[in-house]
Amino acid sequence: MIDATELLCRALETEEAWEWPETCAAEYEELLKQKLIRETASAKFRICPHCQEAIVINQLTDGSLYSDCEDGRVFFSQDSIRRWRPNALAIIALIRNALSLSGTEAELIEGKLYLLGSNGAPSRAFPIWLFRGGDEPTARETAYTSLARRSPAEAGVIVTSSHHVHSQAWPRGSKAILLQDLIKLNENGLDIIPAVIFSNAPEGIRHSEKQGRPPKNELNVVQTFLDRIGSGDAVTSTCKDEAREIAEIERKRFGDEARKLGQIQKVLGPYWKNWKNTGFDRAFKQ
Ligand SMILES: [Zn+2]
Repeated sequence: MIDATELLCRALETEEAWEWPETCAAEYEELLKQKLIRETASAKFRICPHCQEAIVINQLTDGSLYSDCEDGRVFFSQDSIRRWRPNALAIIALIRNALSLSGTEAELIEGKLYLLGSNGAPSRAFPIWLFRGGDEPTARETAYTSLARRSPAEAGVIVTSSHHVHSQAWPRGSKAILLQDLIKLNENGLDIIPAVIFSNAPEGIRHSEKQGRPPKNELNVVQTFLDRIGSGDAVTSTCKDEAREIAEIERKRFGDEARKLGQIQKVLGPYWKNWKNTGFDRAFKQ
């Protein structure tokens, strides 16, 4: 089964409108609400389940949708004709904000290659690009040339949904990372995982001053815990197991800067115990 993130990434590679997904419809409502995808014109045709031909969709006065063919009348749900496209500019803005990118933002090749900005302090900044449509060899050649000719001559990170782009060598040692690894879909929409960018930073720039550090306020661990209770993900066996899960979340978020398991367990201990005493009430509040 294909998940919502995977589908969004795939869609970013194409120009076509996509069917409203059945398996992750709720996630797509959230993405729509956050304007990360756009609803486009509904489908005018549908594949007939009888004859497998594309047939025109008609509407009855009560709003119900149907098609007629020699094999009879077929009704379709409203959802089955909904179509969507990713909103590339909104996804770019999300990445730019989440990574606190600065500097120029530019469309280098129309609809395909975007400079999202620069990351880090001026002395060790590197550019981050988004490249769409890289499954096509000619698009990859054009993008390669564009990046090779760019001035200043610097290496950066290319964000892509195409495995072809990911596995190819890029000018000046630039690395391509998969968008699928950079974004995570949760109940609040899309989350960006900065560590994925930093671990692929150009040679000599392994760390950026912009890399996420755990907030000094230790209650952040507690917030993560409360979020996990809310989503039903919290571990109910031992406090250490739960601390281990939170440590893993922080490791993905903050890389080498993440807190150690012992620190997390120490902060979490009293809250976990309190939660356990309330009988794992999901509405538990600190
Ligand atoms: Zn038919």
